[in-house]
Formats: sequence, C-alpha cells, structure tokens
Amino acid sequence: MHILHDQPAELYSTFRLKTRLATVIEVNCLADLEKVDTCSSTPLVLGEGSNTVFLQAQTRSIVRFTGASITEKWLDDNCCLLHVEAGHNWHQLVTTTVERQLWGIENLALIPGSVGAAPVQNIGAYGVELADVCAYVDYFHWQTKSLQRLTTSECNFGYRDSVFKHHLTGKGIIVAVGINLTKIAKPVLSYQGLVNLPATSSIYEIYQKVIATRNSKLPDYRQLPNCGSFFKNPLISRADYQRLQRAYPTMPGYAQPDSQVKVPAAWLIDQQGFKGHQINDIACYPKQPLVLVNYGGGRAEDLLQLIAEIQAKVSSAYQISLEPEVRLLMRDGQQYV
Ligand SMILES: Cc1cc2nc3c(=O)[nH]c(=O)nc-3n(C[C@H](O)[C@H](O)[C@H](O)COP(=O)(O)OP(=O)(O)OC[C@H]3O[C@@H](n4cnc5c(N)ncnc54)[C@H](O)[C@@H]3O)c2cc1C
Repeated sequence: MHILHDQPAELYSTFRLKTRLATVIEVNCLADLEKVDTCSSTPLVLGEGSNTVFLQAQTRSIVRFTGASITEKWLDDNCCLLHVEAGHNWHQLVTTTVERQLWGIENLALIPGSVGAAPVQNIGAYGVELADVCAYVDYFHWQTKSLQRLTTSECNFGYRDSVFKHHLTGKGIIVAVGINLTKIAKPVLSYQGLVNLPATSSIYEIYQKVIATRNSKLPDYRQLPNCGSFFKNPLISRADYQRLQRAYPTMPGYAQPDSQVKVPAAWLIDQQGFKGHQINDIACYPKQPLVLVNYGGGRAEDLLQLIAEIQAKVSSAYQISLEPEVRLLMRDGQQYV
C-alpha cells in the first residue's frame, strides 16, 4: 500500500483544475484493500481521472486500485475469457487484444482511463460498449470486506450507466473485469466513421481507423486538458422528437430499442453557438463543442458557469436537459448536479 499526502489534484484528473487532495491511497492487492480505513469516512474511488473533475479540495481519502495483471482462459478453440485487474490501462488492453487477434473491443481503442472504470459508465464508442463483452465484474465491498462477482445482468448496464452509479455508489471498488473475446472475425462497422471500411477489414485496420478518427476529432488531454464528451447524449420520447423535428428539421436522432430517441448533445450545443465559446481559460473545443477544455489556468467557477450557460440555452431552445457525463466533485466528494 502506498499512501500519498496533500497531492496536487491536477496530477489525478485529465481536466487538470488546480486544487488539493488530502490523501491518495494506492493499493494493488486484496490483502491491502482490507486494511484501508473505511470507518472514519467512505473513500472516494479513482482510476486515471479521465472522467473526473475536482472542483474543490478533497479531505476524504481517495483510493486507486493499481493491480494490473491479465489472466487468460480459453473456453474453447475460439473463445477466450480475459480476467483483467482494474488498474490496467484500457487502451493498452485493447492494443494487446488487437495484437493477439482477439475480437471484441477494437472499436473501443484510445478511450482513456483504467479497466476498473470501464464498467462504471459502460464505456462505449463506434457502435460497441463494454456491456457487449463483459462477462463479470469483481467488486470489493468496504463494509463487509468481501469480494462479490457480479454477472453482466447484475451490472445493469445502460447507456453510460450501470449499477455502480446507483445502488453500489460508494459501497466498494472494482478490482477486476472479465472480458469475453473471440478469434472469429466480428467487425462492427455500422457506425459513422467506420462505414467506409470493407467488411473484410482486419482487426488491426479497424483499430487504426478508430484511432485516426478519434485523433482527428478529439484534443489530446495531455496537451489540452479535457475529459472527452462532457454531457451525455439526451434520450427523449419519440413524440418529443417528432415535435422538435418539425421546428428543427435538421435535428439528428437515433431510435433506441426502448422507443426513445437519442439526440446528439454535440448538435444541440453547436446549434446554440457554443463552438469555441470561452470563459477565461475554460472553453468549448472549437472543433467539437461537446468537449470542454482547460487552456491551463481554468477555474472551477468558470467551468460551472459554462456548464450552466450551455444547459440553460439548450433547455430554453429545446426543453431538453443536458446531464454531465463527467463526475464533478465538490468539497469532500459531494457530487455537483
Ligand atoms: C479525450 C477523452 C475521450 C473519451 N472518450 C470516451 C468515449 O469514447 N467513450 C466513453 O465511454 N468514455 C470516454 N471518455 C471518458 C473516460 O475515458 C471513461 O469514462 C473512462 O472509463 C474513465 O476511466 P478513468 O480510469 O479515468 O476513470 P476516473 O475518472 O478515474 O473515474 C470515473 C468513475 O469511475 C469510478 N471508478 C474508477 N475506477 C474504479 C474502480 N476500480 N472501482 C469502482 N469505481 C471506479 C470513479 O469512482 C468514477 O465514478 C473519454 C475521456 C477523454 C479524456
């Protein structure tokens, strides 16, 4: 166990707002997790901070699980189950699977962050989400100090959602994820950006195309701090969508299996003129206004003002409320809503 005191928050969040974290505890095995003090206050759990913004100082302990091993189990000649510890970097895992010609997560290349965070918001991109390949999630409960294996259905995956954001929030920490992969080619090319690839594309070609497309659209958080898409794409009823489309004929919408329609948040924000809109050092990225960026000296109050302006304008124009996809932490782990 590695305990660090009074840490600069910008080292632990890709949005890099400047504040302080009282205690960061890095743990790489179950035996050490059992020793983490959870009586005085429940710890906050952190991966690589690519979906977390520290708006204010944190006095609660922050725990990171850093174990990162991969264990492989072949279920038959073609199907392989990877048991991956939570501290493994997600993109490195995707790269390893592509090198080994194991299909399933190549469309999720270049998503920043850790394997342990992937089930929390059911990461997704280019027509694939973690739920499609997740076999189980191993979850350590703070209170009972016991490990529970959750099946995929127990994870209750939804769009950028899971049981870890609801019933299990704050109750424990993910220590490993089971991922089902296959040697049989399974290209998913239906999503915009990949549709022009031939159906015979190799796993490597798809992986490269995803990386090239993402690099052309999204800023590199190491050069321009950001947390990717800042808001979730809102889901609205079909009736509301039809009503809005009469007023805004170019409004895109994607029908969902549950008869709701997903509207791209980027379109709503763009239409309201936010591309490049800036409040001091916080701005909507000029190429993609759904991504909020920190030009270096970003302050929490500027970020909160920009969020409020975007939400107010989108709500007044379309009666749609935009919900942050990013975890915004006020003092002592209180979530900003
Ligand atoms: C440039 C950029 C592009 C992005 N693109 C995408 C994208 O295409 N699709 C997408 O879905 N996301 C995307 N994201 C968001 C982000 O990459 C994912 O949410 C990722 O899973 C976050 O991983 P992390 O380790 O950084 O999580 P953190 O920010 O550290 O944590 C995120 C949440 O997960 C919880 N958590 C982290 N680790 C654990 C654990 N071991 N046990 C329990 N809970 C845990 C935290 O408590 C928190 O609630 C993008 C981000 C950036 C910066």
